[in-house]
Amino acid sequence: MKKIIKRLNSIGLYLFNSILPKHCIACRQILVADATNQLCISCFSKLDQLTESDKAEIERIATDIGAENIYTSYRYQGILRKLILSFKFQDAIEHRKQLAQILPKFKQEEQHNMVEPKLVVPVPMHPLKRIARKYNQAEELALLFAKQNHMTYQPFVLKRETYQKQTDKNKQQRAKNLSKSISCAEELRGTHVYLVDDILTTGATLKACIKALKKSGATKVTCITLCFTPLQDK
Ligand SMILES: [Zn+2]
Repeated sequence: MKKIIKRLNSIGLYLFNSILPKHCIACRQILVADATNQLCISCFSKLDQLTESDKAEIERIATDIGAENIYTSYRYQGILRKLILSFKFQDAIEHRKQLAQILPKFKQEEQHNMVEPKLVVPVPMHPLKRIARKYNQAEELALLFAKQNHMTYQPFVLKRETYQKQTDKNKQQRAKNLSKSISCAEELRGTHVYLVDDILTTGATLKACIKALKKSGATKVTCITLCFTPLQDK
C-alpha cells in the first residue's frame, strides 16, 4: 500500500511539474523539473563573490565583536539583494529554501572534531516588528541552517525587548541601546553558539547578541550570515 501511495505521489509530482513548471525565482526562466536550486545557472553564476578587501574587513569585524569567526557567502548586491529584500519585506517566504542553500555549510568531519555542545540561534526581532513582518527572516534561515548541518536549533534563546527608533541617536548611544535591548533567556555554560542573521553590515547587532550569549556562559560564538554589505555601500 505504501509503495502504491509513493508511486501515486511521484506521478502526481510529475504531472504537477509538467503543468506548472518551476521558474527561476530571480529571472522567471523555466527550470528543469528536478532542479534542486530555485535559481537558474545563469542567475546563480551572477551572485557577487566577496573581494579580498571584503574578507579582510569581515575578519576585522569578527575580532571587534568577539566572534570566533564570521562565515558569510556573498556580497549584498545584485540578484541576492533583490531576493533578500522580497524575502524580508514582501512576504516571499518561499525564497528561504534557496537562501538557506547559499548559507555556509560545515563538513560532517569538521563537526565531529567539535566536542562542545552546539546550538543554532537566530538574531532576535522585536515582537511587534515580528507581527508586522509576519516572520523573522533570521529564524527561517537559522532553522534550515541547523537542519542542513545536523545541529540543535533554539529559536528563543535571545530576546529583543525595547524597540526605539535609533535614527536620532549617535553611534555610541545606538550601541548602548542595542546592547540593553538584547538579552539571553537561557543558561549556556560551555556551549558553542552559531548565531545566524541575513546580512552583515557593521556587526553592531551581532556584537550585542554575542555579549548577551557570553554573559550567559557561551564559550564561543560563530556568526553565520548570507551576505556582507560592501564598504562603499554602508
Ligand atoms: Zn534566473
